Amino acid sequence: MFKRILIANRGEIAVRIIRACRELDIETVAVYSQADEASLHVQLATQAVCIGPAKAAQSYLNQTAILSAAVESGCEAIHPGYGFLSENGEFAELCEKCGLTFIGPSPAVLNQMGNKAAARALMQQVGVPVVPGSDGPVKDAAQAAVVAQAIGYPVLVKASAGGGGRGMRRVYRPEELAPAFASAQAEAEACFGDGEMYLEKLILHPRHIEFQIMADRFGHVVHLGERDCSIQRKNQKLLEESPSKALTPQLREQMGAAAVAAAKACGYEGAGTVEFVVDPAGNFYFIEMNTRIQVEHPVTEMVTGIDLVREQLRVAVGLPLSFTQAPLTGHAIEVRINAEDPAAGFRPVPGKTEFVHFPGGNGVRVDSALYSGFTLSPYYDSLAAKVIVHAPTRLAAIRKMRRALEELVIEGYPTTADLGHLILYHPDFLKGSYDTGFLDKELDTLLRWGEECPRSGSEEEAAR
Ligand code: ADP
Ligand code: ADP
Ligand code: MG
Repeated sequence: MFKRILIANRGEIAVRIIRACRELDIETVAVYSQADEASLHVQLATQAVCIGPAKAAQSYLNQTAILSAAVESGCEAIHPGYGFLSENGEFAELCEKCGLTFIGPSPAVLNQMGNKAAARALMQQVGVPVVPGSDGPVKDAAQAAVVAQAIGYPVLVKASAGGGGRGMRRVYRPEELAPAFASAQAEAEACFGDGEMYLEKLILHPRHIEFQIMADRFGHVVHLGERDCSIQRKNQKLLEESPSKALTPQLREQMGAAAVAAAKACGYEGAGTVEFVVDPAGNFYFIEMNTRIQVEHPVTEMVTGIDLVREQLRVAVGLPLSFTQAPLTGHAIEVRINAEDPAAGFRPVPGKTEFVHFPGGNGVRVDSALYSGFTLSPYYDSLAAKVIVHAPTRLAAIRKMRRALEELVIEGYPTTADLGHLILYHPDFLKGSYDTGFLDKELDTLLRWGEECPRSGSEEEAAR
């Protein structure tokens, strides 16, 4: 196993990776920006190196500073976490050139799957169903209009480099296409420095269902079941669960096989996620592959008992996966606790954490870098904590999550915790009949409930 690695990330995922390393006796080197000096990951690591000013472009995206820190501190490998440099093929290649192992797939895979239009093309070649759309990128709004006419409205304009729900626009009528194209492209250029766009048909009332993949160097490619991530705001996930109420055993098998085929098609190594949308008739379509550890990975860890970060480290050092099949037990749910105000369009509201208390007890896990007195920086994303629960049945998991969120205390700024709690009482959520439009449609109702506080009822009935 590695003796010492650098973690090129911050916040809860840096802490998560440090924990896995400590359990494997691996020393850790944290990197931090000037805004993150007091961060938990800096305190928990064996050693910490400041890599630049607060702005991510000058610190967590500063490849030279990170590589120098790794080499100078005697690291053998770099774990990129999620976001930042985690899907950057150029960075993975530079790691190799510096004699460092990049903990993730090869640069070629990152480049192929990091471009969503290119990933679509590869999936089509190997027979994984993709959303009807353009063959590769479209060069301008005029060409997009021709494709849209052919596949039929509504359509979704998407950036090839997109991520985090950015760079995409829904288009319902031809006259909306040109302005939507322009604004999506401008956003993509600003966020990703890449304005390449493609087109997909907008699937109506879809579920977002993704499969966790693990692959090693010896040709083992295993999927670890699905996560239903349909509770979203602004095309970003807020609550995830496994298994999904939307999948029959047959559909699960078909989608799992497609996810494995996707990973095999690109020569995948390490942890990855194959994302699909599923329409109400049960047709599934590939939308993208995330070539990294994902925010919601603990949901899968709870139902499989497998430590995915540990497996990433094993694969990266050249060991085989420690399992061949993933037995799935019980039900897991994650609620993301973001420092955001749901009543104000989920506006980020970072600030000083005056006091924090995390829930505990059997089957409850909290991944977070918060502590009382810690100030959340406006420079980075608003994820403050993840609360994850595991129980034998879905209803038991829902009840455990309710009580966990009731125990959670975060003082200092508004969060999404209360909204997460309210969702757990919604009849459609209890029935498991929700799609990616659920939160948009029900937000006002949920916020009103929040004011009225009627959180009780015959949930067992509704869940049947
Ligand atoms: P997940 O797909 O794991 O649920 P999210 O979409 O919530 O992840 O994104 C996780 C983090 O990574 C967020 O901070 C998000 O802003 C960032 N992120 C995701 N994709 C990209 C990308 N292509 N480029 C830069 N940052 C990204
Ligand atoms: P990102 O890289 O930002 O995560 P994705 O392609 O994964 O982008 O899409 C994010 C979300 O947008 C999905 O989870 C889903 O809710 C919605 N979405 C994406 N593609 C489609 C589509 N073709 N039809 C309907 N919804 C879609
Ligand atoms: Mg996605």
